[in-house]
Amino acid sequence: MKINSERRGVRLLSAVLAAVLAAALLIMAPAPGNHASAKNAQVKKYEDQISDLEKNRKALQEKIAGIKDKANETAEYKQNLDALIYAMSQKISMSQELVEELETRIEETKASIAEKETAIEETFEKFQERMRMSYEEGSVSYLSVLLGSDSVSDFLSRVDRVNSMLEYDKTMMDQYKTEKESLEQERANLEESIVLQKNTLEEIEKDKAENEKLAEQAASYYDSLKADEAAYQKQYADAKAAEDKLDQELTQYLKNLQKQQQQQAPKQSSGAGANTNSGTPQTTASGEFMWPLPVGKGYISCYYGDKDPNGAPHYAIDIPVAHGTPIYASNDGTVLKAESHSSYGYYVLIDHGNGRSTLYAHCSSLAAVAGQTVSKGQVIGYVGSTGFSTANHLHFEFRINGTRTNPLDYVKKGV
Ligand SMILES: [Zn+2]
Repeated sequence: MKINSERRGVRLLSAVLAAVLAAALLIMAPAPGNHASAKNAQVKKYEDQISDLEKNRKALQEKIAGIKDKANETAEYKQNLDALIYAMSQKISMSQELVEELETRIEETKASIAEKETAIEETFEKFQERMRMSYEEGSVSYLSVLLGSDSVSDFLSRVDRVNSMLEYDKTMMDQYKTEKESLEQERANLEESIVLQKNTLEEIEKDKAENEKLAEQAASYYDSLKADEAAYQKQYADAKAAEDKLDQELTQYLKNLQKQQQQQAPKQSSGAGANTNSGTPQTTASGEFMWPLPVGKGYISCYYGDKDPNGAPHYAIDIPVAHGTPIYASNDGTVLKAESHSSYGYYVLIDHGNGRSTLYAHCSSLAAVAGQTVSKGQVIGYVGSTGFSTANHLHFEFRINGTRTNPLDYVKKGV
């Protein structure tokens, strides 16, 4: 970029030197024929350089717009990923809570199973005790309980009692066993659930990791797009600055040229016609309309009746000339409008009487105000590219009773 702007600088310098040289030659040897061609070559050189820079700048503008679109898309994509990742994090913490809960329940079930086991063991020990007691000699046994009966009915009731005690122990043990079995079943179910839950958790975590990777890639792509954008913006600013500088130089060059021509005017004037005297506003009879720009500048890029770049019919003529070139009132009149408009940009509308009016659009600045009386050839504004315009040019309309008509039917072509 440095090298480019230096090269530009050199180019500018050579352009300026050429201009000075041309001016010197003009002063030393005033030859009208050479005069025009030397001037045109130099102006054309400027205009070509400006137009190249402009093209370059437009291309950069498009690139920047493209990059901006991409960056926006990427940011949106990343936002969606972030939302997804957030939802996954929520899911993960829910799933983790579930796993913890299952683990607690498993621990609880394990404790219950241990309790049942203890109960079973205790009951079994009691049962064994009772059984042992019933067969042990010399101690208070079931047998002695039975033999201590003093009647048959007493004996039978004692047998029943012993039996029911044994039966009770057995029933209790069975019940504990059943309860323990159901607890074990529950624990097995919980273990199964926890395995499933852990699998789910693992899958979500894997998904989340993948999305995080994508989000990271999107973020670094976004950063690189932004860096590209910044680099192109810088190039754009450089191109614009170079273009503005050339514009200024060209304007200055044209001014100098005009001054020289004014000095030479007496030698040149041969009455060849008002509009051939380049650069100088005409002040001949007000019946005729004059070319609204310094004569010999630019060309007509779009005629009356042509399609404009958007395909719409064009009811004016477009004359591309350098930024800042003075615009002349085509005839005496009263300024009706001197203001800004969304498509005309800065423009001036002059009423010339007898239903005739002229309009000058896309000015960079205005030198007239509404209501002002202007005379033919008076500077009313300067060429620019304001409003709906892509390059410096004058959009010139000629109106009869408000209807736009071909300006070249009324104004002698001065390009
Ligand atoms: Zn136009």
